[in-house]
Amino acid sequence: MPQRMIQINEDRLLSDLRDLAQIGATAEGGVHRPALTEADLAGREWFRQSIHQAGLALQEDGAGNISAVLPSVEPNAKTLLLGSHLDTVPNGGRFDGALGVLAALEVLRTLADSHRSLPCHLEAISFTDEEGNWIPLLGSSAISGNLNRESFTQPRGSKSELAVALARAGISVASCLTAQRNLDEFLAYLEVHIEQGTRLESSALDIGIVTSIVGIRSHWLEFVGEAAHAGTKAVAERKDAFWGAADFAIRARELVLAHFVPGVVNCGILELRPGAFNIVPARVRMSLEFRHGTKEQLAEMEKELLALAEQCAARFDLTLNRSPVATVAPAPMHSGVQATIAGAAEAMGLSHTRLMSFAGHDPQSFAHDIPTGMFFVPCRDGISHNPAEFTRDEDCIHAANVLLHSALLITEGALA
Ligand SMILES: [Zn+2]
Repeated sequence: MPQRMIQINEDRLLSDLRDLAQIGATAEGGVHRPALTEADLAGREWFRQSIHQAGLALQEDGAGNISAVLPSVEPNAKTLLLGSHLDTVPNGGRFDGALGVLAALEVLRTLADSHRSLPCHLEAISFTDEEGNWIPLLGSSAISGNLNRESFTQPRGSKSELAVALARAGISVASCLTAQRNLDEFLAYLEVHIEQGTRLESSALDIGIVTSIVGIRSHWLEFVGEAAHAGTKAVAERKDAFWGAADFAIRARELVLAHFVPGVVNCGILELRPGAFNIVPARVRMSLEFRHGTKEQLAEMEKELLALAEQCAARFDLTLNRSPVATVAPAPMHSGVQATIAGAAEAMGLSHTRLMSFAGHDPQSFAHDIPTGMFFVPCRDGISHNPAEFTRDEDCIHAANVLLHSALLITEGALA
């Protein structure tokens, strides 16, 4: 990196990562800090203390989101929001979420130390329950206004357990619904995260700039044939519902590989009826889920996959019933923020590429309303949501420095 460029304090960042990893530490070297558990509450308290020690302002909301704030000299200025999450999946790793929050905190400390006068407020936030121990993206969707009473009707666990867990953190369903903010107050939202895949590592690249957090669509497919004696019915005369489903699963793979890379498809549930050694399957219910980066690609994928399912059913003289299950819209990242991250990486002499995120993240709560960007740093062997999750010190340092310089470019008007 050019010597005169401002840089984060490497030792402070790395020591924070080590300290935080002690909270909820597991014997295998991972971290167990699911949202609103005692370990998560301890992690939150550690974050509050770190904010105090840094001399930054502490801000908390009704959804349990915790922020450090470095105010601008201009009280009516907009806020540049940086962040991620401190909660983990059960028996997770040390870097998923933690790196993004600690890099954001380190950016604020570095700028506070530099005594610059900032044209906008800077806020480093930890969002509640990104991982969905109760409700995925709870904290970020509360702020963006995507959370409502209905969001609380089917938490993982039960409603009464959720109420107890929220109360442990001093919040409630009602208070979560007060956390919505006026999104006009934000200049942009920016997050750094470990990749949780192998694309950066296998290409020996430093930074992966996310173009989009992929959308997801799912359907139930039901192939309907005719039950028959598995011995006496000639193979050529069977209407075996499983043949249609099996044919579809294999050809869906080929279709996606031929036309939709890097899109993905999955048939994860298969139920055969009546389900016996000696009866030809009459009905097969199969789940279909597919993901891609834009609405257009997702719609094209849906059209072709469903047409293929019809063809596979017809091939074996079956009928096909289908019903849509769920849809999550793709969250395209802001092109100006992407270019800003690329500029920051280049200024530091770091290599970069563009890629889609195939996992969900907090930026999708904001992408439709404010300029939003996200970038990845490598993680070893793509292992994540696992105690073996590992990102090298130098990549953690790159994460915070690129975040710092992206933030500076944005405060200096890169998006204007
Ligand atoms: Zn995460």
